[in-house]
Amino acid sequence: MRSDTGQVFKLEDYRPCDYLIPETDLTFRLDPDRTIVVAQLSIERRDGARAAKTPLVLDGDGLELVSLEIDGAPVSGDDYTVSPDRLSLHAPPAARSFTLTVTTRLAPAGNEALMGLYRSNGVYCTQCEAEGFRRITYFLDRPDILSVYTVRIEADRGSAPLLLSNGNPGETGPLPDGRHFAVWHDPFPKPSYLFALVAGDLAVVKDRFVTRSGRPVELGIYVEHGKQGRTAYAMDALKRSMIWDETVFGREYDLDVFNIVAVSDFNMGAMENKGLNIFNDKYVLADEDTATDADFANIEAIIAHEYFHNWTGNRITCRDWFQLCLKEGLTVYRDHEFSADQRSRAVKRIAEVRLLKGHQFPEDQGPLAHPVRPRRYREINNFYTATVYEKGSEVVRMIRTVVGAETFRQGMDLYFERHDGEAATVEDFVRAFEDVSGQDLSQFFLWYQQAGTPNVTAKASYSAADKELVLEIEQSVPPTPGESRKRLMHIPLAFGLVGPDGADMGWDHVEGATVKDGVIHLRKRKHRLRFGGIAKRPRLSLNRGFSAPVTLSVEEKRADRLFLARHDGDLYGRWQALNTLLVDTLIRSARHIRGGRDAVLPEDLVALCGDIAADDALEPAYRALALTLPSEADIAREMGSNIDPDAILAARTLLVQAIAHAHGADFEALHAEMSQAGPFSPDAESAGRRALKNVLLDYLAARGADAAPAAQHYAGATNMTDRAAALAVLVNRHAGSAETMQALADFERSYRDDPLVLDKWFQIQAAAPGPETLEAVRALAAHPAFSVANPNRLRALVGTFSSANQTGFHRADGEGYRFFGDIILAVDRKNPQVAARLATALRSWRSLEPERKAVAREALLRLASADGLSVDLRDIVERTLA
Ligand code: ZN
Repeated sequence: MRSDTGQVFKLEDYRPCDYLIPETDLTFRLDPDRTIVVAQLSIERRDGARAAKTPLVLDGDGLELVSLEIDGAPVSGDDYTVSPDRLSLHAPPAARSFTLTVTTRLAPAGNEALMGLYRSNGVYCTQCEAEGFRRITYFLDRPDILSVYTVRIEADRGSAPLLLSNGNPGETGPLPDGRHFAVWHDPFPKPSYLFALVAGDLAVVKDRFVTRSGRPVELGIYVEHGKQGRTAYAMDALKRSMIWDETVFGREYDLDVFNIVAVSDFNMGAMENKGLNIFNDKYVLADEDTATDADFANIEAIIAHEYFHNWTGNRITCRDWFQLCLKEGLTVYRDHEFSADQRSRAVKRIAEVRLLKGHQFPEDQGPLAHPVRPRRYREINNFYTATVYEKGSEVVRMIRTVVGAETFRQGMDLYFERHDGEAATVEDFVRAFEDVSGQDLSQFFLWYQQAGTPNVTAKASYSAADKELVLEIEQSVPPTPGESRKRLMHIPLAFGLVGPDGADMGWDHVEGATVKDGVIHLRKRKHRLRFGGIAKRPRLSLNRGFSAPVTLSVEEKRADRLFLARHDGDLYGRWQALNTLLVDTLIRSARHIRGGRDAVLPEDLVALCGDIAADDALEPAYRALALTLPSEADIAREMGSNIDPDAILAARTLLVQAIAHAHGADFEALHAEMSQAGPFSPDAESAGRRALKNVLLDYLAARGADAAPAAQHYAGATNMTDRAAALAVLVNRHAGSAETMQALADFERSYRDDPLVLDKWFQIQAAAPGPETLEAVRALAAHPAFSVANPNRLRALVGTFSSANQTGFHRADGEGYRFFGDIILAVDRKNPQVAARLATALRSWRSLEPERKAVAREALLRLASADGLSVDLRDIVERTLA
């Protein structure tokens, strides 16, 4: 692995390459320990490149060169220098084009970083984004080098009957010594990060799709033998994605085959390699006995996401890695819209906002803050962040809000038309919308350039005499690392003026800002809007649908907020009002508790929760979301400083109990009602009923010490959603009880041979609140089934503990951090990318109360001073401490 620390890559240093590689022919002679890769590269000096004889410098990463030829003749040792990380040809041939043949030797079985060519459960597979191709052969490993690939794979037929690569299948045949080969050709020029190869012994489930213009496509999902029965949902989601992209964006698929391979060792969720998506099996395999409703929803979203990349990412790729959001933010936006169309739009949007606030806001408000399009990086792997993905998606959503839905689609069409087959920039993308709308989006462009969550404050006052509403709105963007002075943003705020009957009120005229189609466009620091012709005092429902990713504080009466939480005709607005009430209450309560005073348990809020639960007009999924109180992490984030997780947990638990005691009988009846269900279906409606049922189970269990009801639900569960939920209730509400111990033992026994399900067992235990959980987590880390080499298992235990267990991880004595630090260092020696990602759990350490802050800092300093840190981990640790 690379150890050259300190090199900083800068956006402004971008320069096209002097050389191009229009064609790449690869031959793989696969062997676990001695794989030979022969790369035949057609090299061309670019028009306008500097003088002939410009050195050709190829990227490598830990490579071993076997031989090097130009146009079939060996290259003399004087004409090149080679190291594991670089191959330089000092004076390439004067001819404009030549063929370079590079032969390298790899050991896939020993590749623990899971980048480049590696083995997962005996299957050869690759991961090349962002810079993994250079671990396979020396190459111009950058996304603006587009090449047409032909790949020949040779392997042992017995252990690897299946040979896959990108594009369309070609010739296959036998070879001596029990080996065989297959050739694949991908006619679409692509960057090296989209290269993929899979070889092994897998089962396949096939299907067929005919595109709108009549192209038949053979679909294949490849999984471990015996898992074929768990692919149906993924296949269905794939076909729905293909139809949706044709209908909503006019985009068709373009090859004869589309293959998906599920592997069990994968650093991320999935990868969009052209025609050969490789997935973390967690996001493919599902049936009612092994997957929860959340798993089904994730599978649908990620299958769609990777499929959508075929146009946004593959046909049009990124010029350089600074443009990562060009493919990721846009593709997340597309998968969000897909899921919203397949499910309930309001519920989907609320879930998205919760996720955005839970993951992106803390990033944007802490030491790791960076713009959606970063300007510099030391390690690009550390920029696959919530900011690039989720905020990147929000920015695309805002473009649609600003230009309007129809114009947005025209802009997308223009973008595809202009840049198909190219490596583009964010400027190219935004220009398409400027051109179709005639609008100047330069102020809007700051959303890509400035880090930090803007703060927006608002205050409304109504004059009955003038029938006028005056709305004062102000924006400010807080400083972030390396950006102390910020410019004013263009913030589109969707809104409604809610009348006494809950319906939106109109107005005669408005001045003070552009207001169009229910959206206020802030562009200045302060706007004073005057709405005229309003007969009665309205309540203000602002930032509906979370139209802009900002922190909003509206100066308003508690009674108005309660009104909106009950009556806002916009469901999102209604949820937002409730959420604000809950967060404010829980923050006050936590402060009281830390100060030795009583918890805050407002009766009106407790009553409201009961009324929402009972409101049949609301879909169960919405009610489930509303009744899921803000998490401890949510409360901590909104508090911002001097955080004491124990006080927060106490405040939350007491409110749950107050609600449960006030509505126990009703909740029991509703729980019984929601439990009536026909045969299992993963659809959104059925999942919503299960969600509500299981939230209610948690409330009911919070009422007392009797574990029997939850244990009965565990024993009687007929699907994994209910079983896992009941187990979590036992673990969280009845820790240490005989029923809990028995259920845990039963779950372990039932699923010990099913890694994805056993991950849930690790995860549920790691999330149990309280400082004692650390001991349980230590014991689980010594469990024979635990391994730091498998990213899913590692994330289930250590990732859950550090990111979803505030009271355990942030133990006041620092023992949580000590355990965490030891694991991180062990992981870093194998898999730096995963170690660095885990380490981001410490990013909000400065918000903790002083005692915890001090021990957290010590833990970070200890990591910083450890020997042999990877570039990845060092980058995260140093930025976190800076
Ligand atoms: Zn993506």
